[in-house]
Amino acid sequence: MFYASLKHHCKKIVLLLKLLMTQKNSLNIPDSALPRLVIIGGGFAGITLVKEVSDRDFQIVVIDRNNYHTFQPLLYQVATGGLEPDSIAYPLRKYVKRFGKLFFRLADVEKIDPEQKMLYTSEGNLSYDYVVIATGARTNFFGNSQLEKYTMGMKNVPEALNLRSLILQNLEKAIVTKNLLERQALMNFVIVGGGPTGVELAGALAELKRFVFREEYHDLKMEDMQVFLIEGSPKLLGNMSEKASRKTLAFLTEMGVKVMLNCRINDYNGAKVELENGDPIPSDNVVWAAGIKAVPVPGLEAAMHQPSGRLFTDAFNQVKGFDSCYALGDVALVENDPDYPQGHPQVAPTAIQQAELLAQNLRNLQQNKPLKPFKYRDKGSMATIGRKKAVVDVAGFYFSGTFAWLIWLFVHLMSIVGFKNRLATLLQWFTNYFSFNSALRLIIRPYKRNL
Ligand SMILES: Cc1cc2nc3c(=O)[nH]c(=O)nc-3n(C[C@H](O)[C@H](O)[C@H](O)COP(=O)(O)OP(=O)(O)OC[C@H]3O[C@@H](n4cnc5c(N)ncnc54)[C@H](O)[C@@H]3O)c2cc1C
Repeated sequence: MFYASLKHHCKKIVLLLKLLMTQKNSLNIPDSALPRLVIIGGGFAGITLVKEVSDRDFQIVVIDRNNYHTFQPLLYQVATGGLEPDSIAYPLRKYVKRFGKLFFRLADVEKIDPEQKMLYTSEGNLSYDYVVIATGARTNFFGNSQLEKYTMGMKNVPEALNLRSLILQNLEKAIVTKNLLERQALMNFVIVGGGPTGVELAGALAELKRFVFREEYHDLKMEDMQVFLIEGSPKLLGNMSEKASRKTLAFLTEMGVKVMLNCRINDYNGAKVELENGDPIPSDNVVWAAGIKAVPVPGLEAAMHQPSGRLFTDAFNQVKGFDSCYALGDVALVENDPDYPQGHPQVAPTAIQQAELLAQNLRNLQQNKPLKPFKYRDKGSMATIGRKKAVVDVAGFYFSGTFAWLIWLFVHLMSIVGFKNRLATLLQWFTNYFSFNSALRLIIRPYKRNL
């Protein structure tokens, strides 16, 4: 009787222990003698860290809500049918495999408990020894729910494909409608935000109109297609030199884009853009490229900068007040750098450089060596406006035109992840250059607007 009861209790304890174990590690990551390093986000920061840390020092787990890395700088070319989406996205599982016995899990990290060193994800929980938040940023609508509902963002591949569908669907609608006002709204393209994304998208749309739509929609009056670029400040490409900004304005104007500087939009109701000054613009195509907001994982609010959502870190990328927890890239805000009092620019080189340094510092930490503080190396900025039209600021020098365009093409091509993707992009650019027509204009998944 005693033995039967003991056996019963033992079974219960084993079951309870098993349950606790699975709750602690329900993503099926095996136990390891090595400290577990969890990297949340397979963007520029995440994949650089994967490349730089060694599976001999850590058990490395990468978690992302998508199973692919996105090369965001070329999203606008997907949206305008210049590149197929597969060329700018790379499977994360294939990527991490290159660097040894790493683990990838497709999951959305919903919460972090830094006290318990535990992550809560859509697929289960996972304990960690070190965690790196590299979750990037999303579109910032500055709390305006109308803008969020009715405008198009372009932060990821599905959004770029939605925009591609919308552009093509609206032109198809424009060709059949008899209502002239409706047609004009369908053919007015409004881009809000004169940073690199807005400039590059406006230029690409102007080229589509000139080289492609004019021929393919010969029975539609293409002069009626208007591309507006609205910027709240007095300058396009705010982070670039005055010369680059002026040249960009000249290029866009020459291409027929209506650039409106010092102009803010008050609202958009899905049909009409209300400007702070000036006449309203009827439009069924409004793209919001006017700001980003970091996407930190809930649980670290005490270190969060408002309103940007970025996580304050020290110079070694450790999240302020949270041991063993690091933040990199768009989501991080390194404090007390006198050269960048507002934080480093939210661009790919920042994410890459921070990840490279963190890998080195994690190694130093394990070997009890001193840590190195982060120092941003500004490698310059560039933007392309159209074929043979680009601007580049680098090391105090400024270039524009064909040479700048070739530099832009080279830098972007070399930064794409994966040889096959690079080759596919090069091939598409090559054929687009000579044919003036990419033929990637399929409405495979029609986009339904929020109305
Ligand atoms: C349209 C566009 C054009 C750009 N052009 C340029 C350019 O020309 N030059 C330049 O230098 N920079 C450019 N940038 C900025 C650059 O892309 C970012 O600075 C860079 O991607 C930041 O890298 P990151 O690793 O911090 O984040 P990201 O690259 O955004 O990666 C974040 C990753 O985290 C994942 N994630 C987020 N939250 C979670 C979660 N809760 N759970 C699981 N996974 C999660 C996401 O799926 C994503 O894979 C551009 C950005 C955009 C949107």
